[in-house]
Amino acid sequence: MNDPFQNSIKQISESAEILGILPGALKKLTEPQRVVTVHFPVVMDSGEEKIFYGLRSQHNNARGPYKGGIRFSPEVNESEVKALSSWMTWKCAVADIPFGGGKGGVVVDTRLLSKGELEKVARGFVRALFDVLGPNKDVPAPDMYTNSETMDIMVDEYSKIAGARAEATFTGKSIGNGGSEGRTEATGFGGAVVLKLLAEKFSLKPEETKIAIQGIGNVGQYFGIFAEKQGFKIVALSDSKGGIYNEDGIDIKDALAYKNTHGSLASYEKASFVSNEDLLLLPVDVLVPSALENVITAENASKIHAKYIIEMANGPVTPEADVLLEEKGIISVPDILANSGGVATSYFEWYQNMHKETWTKEDVLSKLTEKMTKAFNDVWAVKTEKNISTRKASYVVALQRVIDAGK
Ligand code: NAD
Repeated sequence: MNDPFQNSIKQISESAEILGILPGALKKLTEPQRVVTVHFPVVMDSGEEKIFYGLRSQHNNARGPYKGGIRFSPEVNESEVKALSSWMTWKCAVADIPFGGGKGGVVVDTRLLSKGELEKVARGFVRALFDVLGPNKDVPAPDMYTNSETMDIMVDEYSKIAGARAEATFTGKSIGNGGSEGRTEATGFGGAVVLKLLAEKFSLKPEETKIAIQGIGNVGQYFGIFAEKQGFKIVALSDSKGGIYNEDGIDIKDALAYKNTHGSLASYEKASFVSNEDLLLLPVDVLVPSALENVITAENASKIHAKYIIEMANGPVTPEADVLLEEKGIISVPDILANSGGVATSYFEWYQNMHKETWTKEDVLSKLTEKMTKAFNDVWAVKTEKNISTRKASYVVALQRVIDAGK
């Protein structure tokens, strides 16, 4: 059975063994400290009252308040939310930001609700969870089918109940409402910092390094834009309808402008069409899955030509594929390190709110470069010292930091 929470435990257990963590102690580290489930009423536009179900998994707060997104989706379930909250613990620890892991969600199909009904769901969820949220307790953020507008509404509801403005309780807010400059590009930017550091480790010349990016949403497009700025050669890009490939390179801003006008990349004339499946198998140096989970599997791992993978999406490589990639000598920079620029910048937003500061985008991206560089170097030192994969080294660093804080 593909149980996300059990998978998250499997993923960390080898690193726990490397650190000599016994099963009992590992259970304490992997089980969420608290899972709060709530049922709350919302009066729909028809006048009918409906009860919604939501939950918040507070995984570990040894290093600081719980931190993680709130998703609105019909697929929200306890196992998934628990797994996602544990990944947030390890991601915050690798990035060395003073937060623990959390995640929450409401079971709701956003396509079936009016704007007003969705606002009431957001407010209802905050009312139901009020006691367990707060800038020093648990700091949610947007996730699937929630956005800065949802966070603005949630801050408003929380502040009303608290009787004081409490913008540091949520991150991912709109700029005018306490959000941070630089958050939009942060995750992709952080990934491009990782790319540069990886290239330095292996003496790759940017202009000779071919990159394929699967998914050019928020994360993929900013990764591409900043990688291109550093001189790397983007040769393939895709969206949900398929991708484009040109071995001589693609001008990413031109391709994005084309997609904005035509709705997709499919008939972009300066490159040839490639399916999302074939994009992963192209003769490139670096593969950057930036869309969905579980796209590199036991079925296609052996056919991958890239020597390096930077996991910008969450969970793009299955555990089975990971073993095969390691056997092939492919270096995979795991999601908890590669895409941690997003949560690092959420920490910057929280910090600015707590200290009543406002940083410029240049400040934010410069601080983010420092954070990502330190995180990468810390992981690399453990990888080299213990001669283990980048994924295992990332979990070793994260586990050690959470254990040390727990003491
Ligand atoms: P997004 O919705 O902005 O973009 C997703 C992109 O994937 C879109 O371009 C879409 O067309 C494309 N896509 C959808 N189905 C596809 C398919 N079958 N094949 C190829 N492309 C497909 O989302 P995002 O914010 O860019 O997030 C992407 C991934 O990064 C997710 O796994 C997310 O969890 C992860 N992530 C995002 C952030 C963040 O700050 N946004 C932070 C950490 C991790």
